[in-house]
Amino acid sequence: MAYDNENVFAKILRGELPCHKEYENDTALAFYDLHPKAKIHILVIPKGPYEDFYTFHAQASSLEIEGFYQAVLHVLGTVKSSGYKLVTRSGIDGGQEVPHFHLHVLGGQKLD
Ligand code: AMP
Repeated sequence: MAYDNENVFAKILRGELPCHKEYENDTALAFYDLHPKAKIHILVIPKGPYEDFYTFHAQASSLEIEGFYQAVLHVLGTVKSSGYKLVTRSGIDGGQEVPHFHLHVLGGQKLD
């Protein structure tokens, strides 16, 4: 599956669409989900063109992977005291809507 440069998160990364930014470093961006499923719902994405968890971890450089997890740890710092849930989807069966790898960080309330 080729990476779709016109997906919503690619547009956010190019500055063509706005986002409510929580954190950014050289290789990753964290921003609030437009339709939050919990009191805190933040998405963490790599800046590189990777469709899903597998592609990112199979193809990204160690610097990109380090930067991504640095962003995840930063975001978890805001919710870790009361707990959190991490979710990532891939493809049709996984119910992925946006074909750019993203990790949902959910917290701020009791989660199912
Ligand atoms: P997934 O179903 O795992 O692909 O999740 C995609 C997520 O992206 C959903 O939770 C959407 O609410 C969220 N989303 C879609 N467009 C935007 C946007 N422009 N800004 C922030 N979040 C978005």
